[in-house]
Amino acid sequence: MEVIRERERERQMETLINCSRVVPKITSVSRPKFTNTQSLVSLVSRRASRAVIVAAVAVSAFSSMSYDKELAAAKKAASLAARLCQKVQKALLQSDVQAKSDKSPVTVADYGSQALVSFVLERELPSDSFSLVAEEDSGDLCKASGQETLQRITKLVNDTIVNDGSFSVPTLTMEDVLRAIDSGKSDGGSHGRHWVLDPIDGTKGFVRGDQYAIALALLDEGKVVLGVLACPNLPLASIGSNRLHSSHDEVGCLFFSKVGAGTYMQSLDGSSPIKVNVSTTDNSEEASFFESFEAAHSSHDLSSSIAKKLGVKAPPVRIDSQAKYGALSRGDGAIYLRFPRKGYREKIWDHAAGCIVVTEAGGVVADAAGNPLDFSKGKYLDLDTGILATNQKLMPLLLKAVRESLEDTPSSL
Ligand code: AMP
Ligand code: MG
Repeated sequence: MEVIRERERERQMETLINCSRVVPKITSVSRPKFTNTQSLVSLVSRRASRAVIVAAVAVSAFSSMSYDKELAAAKKAASLAARLCQKVQKALLQSDVQAKSDKSPVTVADYGSQALVSFVLERELPSDSFSLVAEEDSGDLCKASGQETLQRITKLVNDTIVNDGSFSVPTLTMEDVLRAIDSGKSDGGSHGRHWVLDPIDGTKGFVRGDQYAIALALLDEGKVVLGVLACPNLPLASIGSNRLHSSHDEVGCLFFSKVGAGTYMQSLDGSSPIKVNVSTTDNSEEASFFESFEAAHSSHDLSSSIAKKLGVKAPPVRIDSQAKYGALSRGDGAIYLRFPRKGYREKIWDHAAGCIVVTEAGGVVADAAGNPLDFSKGKYLDLDTGILATNQKLMPLLLKAVRESLEDTPSSL
């Protein structure tokens, strides 16, 4: 009889423990026998305390870290880089047709933006060991043929710093600029902290006079913990499918997010930040979607087939760069689709900042198989077929439509 009672107690206890999902199994210890209520309670409380500790450690690893000074530095860095890029884009758009076909303004702005971000982060966060994963390195600039470009970059970086007026530093030399650019030689990975930068995301849009972004994120132990997107040409008002060509919109947005703290947007001129949220629609027919302007970057045919399956009525909103993630985070549209050709390897700097901006605004970002993006594997994202983002209610429907469209046209990528 006593044996039966003891078994029953054991069974109840197992149920209790299994129901308490946050309580982790003690795997390394052999399963204890429960002989009386006191020992059962004591075991549960031990496991519960362990769970609390484990959960607390997990939480403290990311969200209890405030990352406040890192975020402030990232905002300042991206805003200054945006100013530099705006100046170059303005001159580029005013130049004659022949000068427009010259690639050097993009090169100058790309390197200048990277040098400036690197300079500001190192300056504002002097005690941290500095690791930056970024698109550019100074190889070409070090050659004799790169000297003139290097001079232009150095002047541009110095002018931007002087105009800002908040750094009391002597003028940067060309060597300082090369060193700042080459701080971006890190490979990232799953340990420690790494800044991730795309100095000009969407260079094709930059040259056309359209959208581009300065995209900066921080990885901590392989997780994106903050992100900033400076989008100098993005209207502050919605660019939903029927608003894209409004000529009265003030432009220049800065989106920023910190893990556990939401996403905010302010104007690049420095207005007060407002909290933004992704669209909450669960009606796929009214969910307009964003995709790349460049068909070479993402299959427009495939996204059109997906949109048809979802019954989307609005035409796609095609814009360059991670400005798409920014627009999605404030609910301008409800879906982001990206399907590069087979074999294309996505780089972490093309998605890290955009990903946290969307997830902290309540959205979900996943690959075509529904897996979250893993930024811990170095410079590249290792993912299945494409990248999708939407709200939590629409994601299951979207994944189904994607799967069916890929099955219908397996050679679409
Ligand atoms: P988007 O403006 O959203 O099309 O994305 C711009 C980014 O696409 C650039 O920063 C490039 O890193 C990346 N990119 C360049 N070539 C390709 C390609 N063939 N397929 C997909 N993405 C590409
Ligand atoms: Mg890019």
